[in-house]
Amino acid sequence: MNQQQHGRLRSQFPALAQKVNGHPLIYLDNAATTQKPQRVLEAIARYYSTDNANVHRAAHALSGRATLAFESARETVARFIKAPRPQEVIWTRGTTEAINLVAQSWGLSELQAGDEIVLSTLEHHANIVPWQLVAQRTGALIRVIPLDKNGDLDMDAYLGLLGTRTRLVSVAHVSNALGTVNPVKEIVAAAKAVGALTLIDGAQAVAHLEVDVQAIGCDFYAFSGHKLYGPTGIGVLWGRTELLERMPPWQAGGEMIDRVSFAGTTFNVLPFKFEAGTPHIAGAIGLASAIDFITDLDKAELVRHEAALTDYLVAGLRQVPGLRLIGEPRQRAGAVSFLLDDIHPQDAATLLDMQGIALRVGHHCAMPLMESLGIGGTMRASLACYNDRDDVDALLAALHKLSDFF
Ligand code: PLP
Repeated sequence: MNQQQHGRLRSQFPALAQKVNGHPLIYLDNAATTQKPQRVLEAIARYYSTDNANVHRAAHALSGRATLAFESARETVARFIKAPRPQEVIWTRGTTEAINLVAQSWGLSELQAGDEIVLSTLEHHANIVPWQLVAQRTGALIRVIPLDKNGDLDMDAYLGLLGTRTRLVSVAHVSNALGTVNPVKEIVAAAKAVGALTLIDGAQAVAHLEVDVQAIGCDFYAFSGHKLYGPTGIGVLWGRTELLERMPPWQAGGEMIDRVSFAGTTFNVLPFKFEAGTPHIAGAIGLASAIDFITDLDKAELVRHEAALTDYLVAGLRQVPGLRLIGEPRQRAGAVSFLLDDIHPQDAATLLDMQGIALRVGHHCAMPLMESLGIGGTMRASLACYNDRDDVDALLAALHKLSDFF
């Protein structure tokens, strides 16, 4: 992508044009949430302005249009992650709800005392706590893959954890704190070899990598719309049909039923069995628009742009005196964590914010990871397709100033 093309891309994000604290906004908190392109904002406004109606009750024109847009959004998502069937795409509020769905539905109905769930040290709390709740209720046990000193999963230790008791392996595709890209194909293949199911938490992967759920070979894949230039409150659980069909509903109400009587209820087919109540229609439409934005741009090109920019950022951070990179994974996407000697991350973030530079500090909802690293938290810069070398240079210059001053 040349500079002109990148300028055009960036200009599609109205939030990036503002000044913050008197400085042009340098937005480097994309792992928390991305900014939204104009077309996503317009798709949402258009839906509410012209098509607003409830879905799947198409007795009138608006409801017909809303249903069509909502279901074609599902098809867009299926194509985007190379899912074989759109009915395997379940709308959720986000990654957190998608993982809770699997934990509550599959976990509670399938797990027994002594069964094992394998997670990794670098998981977000959203891929830890739902399993702890299920483990408490079923007597299942949680096993944890350790990390090596670079922040990569210790694959030998992983293989050593697998056995006949392993029922599920649930790991992040990309770490939100360290940016580590996990070898998910290898992880899935090893889990399959012992008959375990696999869930991949793709919250930090979908915006940065090409995702093909069939090539990965996993059973479930979860992600959030808002980290992919789409709206908040919408996300996806993808699962294999035969598993989803066997799983019981987890939330109950309208839409997820086939017939209801006081003698008993039968349930709707996929995907509706898992979508009780009025869904986030505008959210699904907005997410499809975000995916169209990415596919129109050429995802492979975006992946290359971000990879080059990440290398540039990491190389620049290495030059800042007193700065320590936290995690040096073999492959990295999106996020880079670091600490500055003698400066509390929160103080540093406040000083950066005064210069319009937005990044995140803290444990990044990965307290067990921070504990394993022996730190309370990090400063994290995370990139998106609209970031460029100017953004990175601004951050590096500000960090050099901080480092000199302290
Ligand atoms: N998993 C990972 C790796 C994440 O980074 C996040 C959010 O930061 C989540 C899960 C939870 O996503 P959400 O809050 O959108 O449900």
